[in-house]
Amino acid sequence: LTTPATRRVTILGSTGSVGCSTVDLIAREPERFPVEALTAQSNVTLLAEQALSLKARLAVIGDEALLPELRQRLAGSGIEAAAGVEAIVEAADRPADLVMAAIVGAAGLEPTLAAVRRGAIVALANKESLVCAGPLVMREAALHGATILPVDSEHNAIFQVFDFDAPETVDRVILTASGGPFRTLSLGDMRDVTPAQAIAHPVWSMGAKISVDSATLMNKGLELIEASFLFSVPEAKIEVLIHPQSVIHSMVSYVDGSVLAQLGTPDMRTPIAVALAWPGRMPTPAARLDLAAIAKLTFEVPDFARFPALNLTRQALQSGGSAPTILNAANEVAVDAFLNGRIGFLDITRIVEQTLSRVPSGPLGELAAVHEADGAARRYAAHLIDPTDDDRVVRVQTRGRNR
Ligand code: NAD
Ligand code: MG
Repeated sequence: LTTPATRRVTILGSTGSVGCSTVDLIAREPERFPVEALTAQSNVTLLAEQALSLKARLAVIGDEALLPELRQRLAGSGIEAAAGVEAIVEAADRPADLVMAAIVGAAGLEPTLAAVRRGAIVALANKESLVCAGPLVMREAALHGATILPVDSEHNAIFQVFDFDAPETVDRVILTASGGPFRTLSLGDMRDVTPAQAIAHPVWSMGAKISVDSATLMNKGLELIEASFLFSVPEAKIEVLIHPQSVIHSMVSYVDGSVLAQLGTPDMRTPIAVALAWPGRMPTPAARLDLAAIAKLTFEVPDFARFPALNLTRQALQSGGSAPTILNAANEVAVDAFLNGRIGFLDITRIVEQTLSRVPSGPLGELAAVHEADGAARRYAAHLIDPTDDDRVVRVQTRGRNR
């Protein structure tokens, strides 16, 4: 296998943190990476700017009210403009060689599936689509010959050191975690943290949702589920190790005692480049790793009492079926409520735990089953957040369905 001279790219969620890093890289080699489509939810200014500078063929805005503005900003450029949930799925369906799936949340599932069903190379940042529908996404990828390249830095690291020819020789997968902004905070002090404090990640600069997930360690839990589906490794063989410097992005240990790791500075452009240039490599402006300057790498066992999210995700993975779907949906609702000042930080994991224990899970065959479990969990979590606010329940429910 060699990397083709040119690779046509579509970016789903181009205005987000991963999306912008992807744009940054392909803007450096525009001949090598012509752009088919870019999509965003509401940042119409940035979307239009990106589409113009990359000469995309199509720009799609999720919020339909913004279509006139998108059209106006693209006027005379020859770039097609479209809007709405369906248009985003259609963008994923257009003939790009590689689709960067960088939408946040379960909202990314259907566009990602569209790219998978087209047999595309899918650079997958959107971990929630694997968490809420892992068996479905992996099955469809195998069926349609799609290649899924993990962009999440841990999974990208594992991907680089995993022996896919002899998976039986893998002893353990070791996911490293920075520990987030509250690694050393007591439970009592965590109770009063604000969204601004939760979003201020010590190492990585990321979107709001994943930053909060990193603070609760739910992100690592979601990544555990993600790793299990991506690499077909059972939950019991996946370890989580706190490594505050985030230099080792993850490791795979083998039956002979060898441990292979991928290292680098914390810059998402490295794993994104691995996917864009796969199976080759491409240069990036990411800072070079200076181990002598860092001098010390440290490791800790995670504290499950202060960060119960890790055990909840193990439990969901063991239960199987739609349990991870339920966990993911409840977490999305709870994180959104926390970011909007409606609940406290510790309520996030509590709501996930209660939703997971009360909403019955079932088998996860088709997309309809995913929607059903996702919707039920969103309704239940919204009800836990505010039992009196029926309007809110309906709104969250609609959002869950309107993907
Ligand atoms: P972000 O919030 O910065 O960006 C999200 C993007 O998705 C934006 O372009 C936004 O317009 C779009 N979007 C949001 N809601 C949408 C909806 N309902 N429908 C369609 N589009 C929508 O998020 P991010 O930090 O870039 O993360 C994106 C994904 O990548 C997440 O799943 C996250 O877990 C994963 N990820 C991110 C990082 C990182 O460093 N940021 C690292 C690893 C994995
Ligand atoms: Mg990660």
